[in-house]
Amino acid sequence: MISVAGDKRKAVCVMKYVCEVCGWEYDEEAGYPEGGIEPGTKWEDIPEDFECPLCGVGKDQFATAE
Ligand SMILES: [Zn+2]
Repeated sequence: MISVAGDKRKAVCVMKYVCEVCGWEYDEEAGYPEGGIEPGTKWEDIPEDFECPLCGVGKDQFATAE
């Protein structure tokens, strides 16, 4: 018997990013349709001029969320 059930998940890793100022969270899977960002948009594909919808800070104020 060969069993490879373990921790090997598929390489689909959905990242979340959280605003360090207000805590607003961006989920790559959900996107941010209200802001014109399609679901599934990778963080690095979001325009550099993106601003937090709540507090208005830029992408550099976001950190990856666990
Ligand atoms: Zn914010």
